[in-house]
Amino acid sequence: MKKNFVQKIANWGNYPVVTKNIRTADTLSAIRSFVEQHNEVIARGNGRCYGDAALAENIFSTARLNKFINFDRINGIIECESGVLLADVLDLIIKQGYFLYVTPGTKFITVGGAIASDVHGKNHHSEGCFSDYLISFKLMIEDGSVHNCSESENAQLFWSTIGGMGLTGIILSAVFKLRNIETAYIRQESIKAENLDQIFSLFEESDSWTYNVAWIDCLQTGNRIGRSILMRGEHATRNEIDAKKRETPYVIKERLLPSVPGYLPSVLLNRFTVKLFNKLYYAQQRQKKTENIVDYERFFFPLDAVGNWNRIYGKKGFIQYQMVIPKEHGRQGMQEILSAIAESGNGSFLAVLKLFGKNNPFAYNSFPMEGYTLALDFKVNLQLPTLVAQLDTIVEKYGGRIYLTKDSMSKNSLTNYLRNVENPKFVSLQHKRILNSTITSQTTHGTNSKRNRQ
Ligand SMILES: Cc1cc2nc3c(=O)[nH]c(=O)nc-3n(C[C@H](O)[C@H](O)[C@H](O)COP(=O)(O)OP(=O)(O)OC[C@H]3O[C@@H](n4cnc5c(N)ncnc54)[C@H](O)[C@@H]3O)c2cc1C
Repeated sequence: MKKNFVQKIANWGNYPVVTKNIRTADTLSAIRSFVEQHNEVIARGNGRCYGDAALAENIFSTARLNKFINFDRINGIIECESGVLLADVLDLIIKQGYFLYVTPGTKFITVGGAIASDVHGKNHHSEGCFSDYLISFKLMIEDGSVHNCSESENAQLFWSTIGGMGLTGIILSAVFKLRNIETAYIRQESIKAENLDQIFSLFEESDSWTYNVAWIDCLQTGNRIGRSILMRGEHATRNEIDAKKRETPYVIKERLLPSVPGYLPSVLLNRFTVKLFNKLYYAQQRQKKTENIVDYERFFFPLDAVGNWNRIYGKKGFIQYQMVIPKEHGRQGMQEILSAIAESGNGSFLAVLKLFGKNNPFAYNSFPMEGYTLALDFKVNLQLPTLVAQLDTIVEKYGGRIYLTKDSMSKNSLTNYLRNVENPKFVSLQHKRILNSTITSQTTHGTNSKRNRQ
């Protein structure tokens, strides 16, 4: 390990950018001495969270914890180090007829990051979060000791680490279950919805589909508010794919991936370009409903098709605002959120709506709760904090909350929901920010925060 390895670093949104001490190692003794010798440590996977979560005074990168430990091909159970990317897991397992139970919208995240954020995919309503398929993991805690954690062993550490944003220690390795697939393809249906009422009915109607997600045109107003396209999907069986694909059902066509070479001028992203993009995107599908077979990359990871796409937002970066509003208030909440965005003119190319199913009550630090979740990208500019505050007020009014792995500026009352993670050793910049604003708002308003009441 290098000494004093200080560098400029940011997560996927390139906001904030900080200069911090970052190290990596793959031996237990080197990781232990890093933990012992530093305070305010946080583990970092592949930096695919958006804001300040994987940043701290002292960052331990799991880049070198990238080895597979065991693959039980009969039972579909894998064991690997925490810095292994989901992309590498998929490369290994698909050809053996397996897939991940839960995957987020990018495969370039680590297993450790998937546990610490307890990521969800397009199938939360039917299959829950990453942790629902997690058997155990090894965690290094503040004194450098390593603990095996599962539902039956160190159960409190197990559940608090899931969705615990790295605040309980460093996950070193994990064991999790895989699902069987017959092909690497998805049977997809895309259905256009003219407004919020239509898209909400489509979500209800599509409850029996494994995967559901909607792209939403966030700049529409009036009775076109919520104009969107729902995409639903199932893993295709051998019989559903054409004869040519059936010869090698687990192999998909390799594509050349273009990459954004540098930061683009952020002026290119404005109300007019977003409006035009949204119009063209909605219009490209002519029929009300289309059905087709697409490969898993296209269905699950369309954004991964362009390398460094985060640079299109310019040097100042962007945030992803993802909130969830309980189901009973979903319709009204989304109406108000989308109206506020359209009025602000701060549109987003990427606006994704999903319906979460019931949460796992044991995984108390996980973000999802039964309800509608919307995720939108906004470039950082002077008006953004005002818009975020406005959206936060709506989310709070309806009893919702913000996804910590995307957060960098939301109200602490919406982000201060983690339990059993207090630990002076493991402290991210995000956690410090949230705690500091809790203290400030207590001093200003004399109120008790949620954290203090738990
Ligand atoms: C294009 C894109 C699409 C996305 N889509 C989704 C989605 O659909 N659903 C979803 O849930 N998320 C989504 N995300 C967010 C992403 O899945 C999470 O932020 C994930 O945690 C990132 O993993 P990472 O390995 O990059 O971790 P990092 O970003 O490096 O870290 C994220 C958090 O995990 C902690 N952490 C990382 N490794 C460890 C470890 N070994 N031990 C302890 N703590 C650790 C960090 O401290 C930090 O708090 C998306 C992100 C992108 C960029």
